[in-house]
Amino acid sequence: MPVKVYEKAPAKINLMLDVLRKREDGYHEVEMVMTMVDLADRLEMEELPRDTIIISSQAGYIPLDEKNLAFQAAKLIKERYQVKQGVYIHLDKKIPVAAGLAGGSSDAAAALRGLNRLWGLNIPESELLTLGAELGSDVPFCVTGGTAIATGRGEKLEHIINPPQCWVVLAKPPINVSTADVYGRLRANEIKAHPSASAMKEAIEAQSFTDICDRLGNVLEDVTLPLHPEVQQLKEAMIRLGADGVLMSGSGPTVFGLVSKESKIARIYNGLRGFCKEVYAVRMLT
Ligand code: ATP
Repeated sequence: MPVKVYEKAPAKINLMLDVLRKREDGYHEVEMVMTMVDLADRLEMEELPRDTIIISSQAGYIPLDEKNLAFQAAKLIKERYQVKQGVYIHLDKKIPVAAGLAGGSSDAAAALRGLNRLWGLNIPESELLTLGAELGSDVPFCVTGGTAIATGRGEKLEHIINPPQCWVVLAKPPINVSTADVYGRLRANEIKAHPSASAMKEAIEAQSFTDICDRLGNVLEDVTLPLHPEVQQLKEAMIRLGADGVLMSGSGPTVFGLVSKESKIARIYNGLRGFCKEVYAVRMLT
């Protein structure tokens, strides 16, 4: 059995996000097309003989106790599979926090995958998905990665092929947006324009980069953009600088731009860096 394992935890973006209604259990019924980009945290997991979970990170601004989603993943696996050993998990954070990029969910998913290997548990993926759903709505998608249409509260997945290869420029303005607050403010029955998951699926299956760009949509922009005009300004700047399609990811505040030509990247990156500190230019994970 290995004594140390490593896992990558990539960031997710939503190519479309629709909210159908608020459910009686308080969750929202959503329809999303999610995919992953090559901006990833890295988890190092090392077995400890003592029955304990220790989390460390170079990022000073995330919880390192039971509030950390990787801690919760380790605790859940230990309880469910009666694992007596402990684990030391180091999180090398690269994904901006509270950014709408599912950094915490991806760390939890990477912890589930990694601990399955570290402790030789042979948990099938279907069971990891169920465990993931207990930790958060985005965790099941982060367990599998790839590209998927997510329904329910985000945990029901239909995998589809990946979009064609392209560049993704991500820019996060220096504000914090709480996902719970955005959903709390959304009036699901007052949404005027619903983006279509099936139209996005068609565009991806046809590998049409232009149609993907035309069909981007996120109803949470209706809440976040009026609250934070800097997000709208970032979207406009990305379009002005030449991005082919632009959208806010998740509940924000990160904005992403899809770009087909590598030759455009330097102009967009440098233009955004003029007024936004956190900018990344990465590849779509395909
Ligand atoms: P989502 O789009 O799924 O809501 P997000 O990208 O907006 O996620 P995260 O980066 O996952 O947000 O962080 C949300 C909150 O979760 C933060 O306020 C942070 O304190 C907490 N958190 C718990 N575990 C982690 C983790 N491993 N990495 C980052 N944040 C974490």
